[in-house]
Formats: sequence, structure tokens, C-alpha cells
Amino acid sequence: MIRPAELIQRKRDGQQLAAAEIRELILGYARGEIPDYQLAAFCMAVYFRGLSSAETFALTEAMIESGDTIALGAALGRKAVDKHSTGGVGDKTSIAVGPIVAACGVPFAKMSGRGLGHTGGTVDKLESIPGFRSELSVDDFISQVREVGLAIVGQSDRLVPADKLLYALRDVTATVENLSLIAASIMSKKLAAGAEAIVLDVKVGDGAFMKTLADAQALAETMIVLGAQAGRQIVCLLTDMDQPLGYAVGNALEVREAVATVRGEGPPDFTALVHTAAAHLLAVSDLGVDEAEARRRVEQAVADGSALAAYERWIQAQGGDPADDALPSAPVVVPVLAPRDGVVTSLAATRVGVAALRLGAGRSTKADRIDPAVGIVCRRKRGDEVAAGDVLAEIHARDAASADEAARDVLASYELGESVPTRRSIVLETISG
Ligand code: URA
Repeated sequence: MIRPAELIQRKRDGQQLAAAEIRELILGYARGEIPDYQLAAFCMAVYFRGLSSAETFALTEAMIESGDTIALGAALGRKAVDKHSTGGVGDKTSIAVGPIVAACGVPFAKMSGRGLGHTGGTVDKLESIPGFRSELSVDDFISQVREVGLAIVGQSDRLVPADKLLYALRDVTATVENLSLIAASIMSKKLAAGAEAIVLDVKVGDGAFMKTLADAQALAETMIVLGAQAGRQIVCLLTDMDQPLGYAVGNALEVREAVATVRGEGPPDFTALVHTAAAHLLAVSDLGVDEAEARRRVEQAVADGSALAAYERWIQAQGGDPADDALPSAPVVVPVLAPRDGVVTSLAATRVGVAALRLGAGRSTKADRIDPAVGIVCRRKRGDEVAAGDVLAEIHARDAASADEAARDVLASYELGESVPTRRSIVLETISG
């Protein structure tokens, strides 16, 4: 029987742990036999000392072993595809990608997480849709994918329960930003949920957990290796998260923007990412199409309305009302005005994410309840020219006091300069296993 305090101490002192020790620690935690405070200390030791590849693999395996696994391909009789993001600000990609991929005839079965740190979570966003049920049994999840072509659900208690607990714990103990903890968290869920081919959106920059391209490449490569060890095909898109993705940050605001994108009316950067991710998913699916043909089909599904129809079918299947005006709106909307003429040279994603969290769009403690209506719409982004008095952003708040505080933070996250910064594509690099 392991002594958790001894493992924490050894990791704190930079030693390697055996796979069996990590397994016992994680399974003991998942069974409720090891308390939160010891796992929080363990995660902090890992944050500072890191895990070797063998330890990362052992952690991933132990997390998977903590619950059930799904043989999705066998259950559907098709090759299933999945996508996951490492977390960013304004990242509603799955909500737009899912219906597009489903409209192209590829089953999309995804388990998503809740907000983590300053980043939002897909499940929190979807739950801003009145009536939407994010908890489906595994059988209902599979039947829905079979019948509707698409399901996005919260992490079931039975799939990777260790990650569900650890995810919530890391969120509030400043232990998210560690390559091995992120890789094990994401890959345990992806491997347990059973898709054979997975597109991973690895965010890079100020608003991402990986701040540099080199760190993002290392995370991508770790996840590709974890996938390969389990016989899965992984494609990693390294994407820009120096500024929020699209315009909207905040749950209902992001759902509105995702639906606009499914209709072909989304912001340029977000649309580019959604189409690229969807095209990669089609290209790794059993459709047998190359990337150029995949992209043509994606664009067609958006243009002919079949992606929007898939969105509506999906939301209704999970009990939600897909109408735009069913989404909640905040009672107070305050503009943030440009103090002078200039060009937006940067828009600090983390600061915007934290401002949205403080408005109530995210959690500061595990028990916090999310306000689905609040958030920020960044009307101007990097490279946009502005005149003094132009609206840079809008704050959607519950009351005037929180709106004013957020307005100050959002204004401080804009940098205005004289010359247009170099244009950067949203997808910085693609790495395939
Ligand atoms: N997404 C996850 O699922 N887990 C992490 O640790 C970070 C992002």
C-alpha cells in the first residue's frame, strides 16, 4: 500500500515514480480513499518537477483504468472521429465543427469538459442553451450519434472519473499548466471515449496553457505518442491563442457566434479554424477523401444550410432549444471605447478571459455557479484600425458595478500602436502522427 505523502515528497524532490505507484495514487483518489489536498499537493509537485514520458504514460493509463471505456467504432459500425482543444479564450470550435462534420456524413461523438482556469469549457457553453442536457448515459450517447450523427456530452462519471476529479481540482489550485498533466487529461478522455482518429487543437500564446510554439510542439508530440501507443491516429493543429478566438467570450455569447459560423456568418479567424479542423476530421474519417475534397464538402455543408440543420437536430436531440433568441442575454451591456486613434497591436487573451471569469462566465472555486449570459464581445482585434471613440468591445454583465470593473480590464488588454502588426494565420503548424 502506497503512502501518498511519501510519493508527494519524492516527486517534490525530483525523483521518478514507478508506474504502479502512480496507478495506486490515481485509483485511490478516484475511489475517494485519498483526499483532494494530497492530490493537490501532488499536482503542484508535478507542476514544478514534471513527469517523464514513462510517468506520463502511466498517469494516462491509470486515469483510463479509473472508469469504463467505449468501443465506439464497434458500437457504431463506423470509424468514429473526435476533436479536442487544449483550452483557450473564446474557443467554441467544437460547437461549430460538430454539426458541419455530421452534415458531411461523419459521426461526431465527443465528451467535453467544463471551464478550466481562465478558459471556458464546451459543456458550460452548451448548458447556456435552455433545456440542453449534457449528461447522457453511454448507451444514449451512442444511440444519439447513430441516429442524429452527433453528440457532445459532459464527462460521464463512468468514463475517466479520475480526470473529472483532477480537472476540477487543478482548475482551482493553479496546477493546470503542466505538459504531462494536460496530455494525460486530454488523452485519457480521448482514448477512453473510443474514437479511432482524433484532431487536437493545441493552443499557443498568451491565452493558452502553452505560451510558446516550442511548448505547444512538445505537448503535441507527447499526445501523438500517447495516441500511437494506443493505436490511434492523431493530427495536431497548433493554433494562435495570443488573442481571443473570434469575437465572443462567455457562454451564451459564444454559442450565438458558433451558430452564426455554422450559418456562414462567423468571424474570419474562427471560421478559418472551424473549416480547417472540420476538413481534417473528414480527411481522417472513413469517407476516403483528401483534404482538398474535405474542405470543399465542409464549405458546401455551410453554404447549403445542411450544417445548420444538423445543429438544430443535435440540440433538440439533447433537449435544448436551438433558436438564437432562446439564449439568455445579460441585462447590462456597456461599450469599451478606444481612447485614441491607432491600430490594435495586441489584445491580451488571458486578461480578457479573466475579466469574463470575474463577470461570472467561469468559476473561481469548484462550487461556483456560472452565469450563462455574461461575457465580453471583442469587436476589434489585432490589426484593426480604430478612431478615438470607436467601440473596441462590449461588456455583457449582470450589473453596472461588475460591468465597469470588466470594462477597465478589457481596455487594459488592448494595446494601440501606430503600424499594422504582421498578419498571422490562425493555424500556425500542423503535426501528424
Ligand atoms: N483540456 C483538458 O481536457 N485537460 C487539460 O488539462 C487541459 C485542457
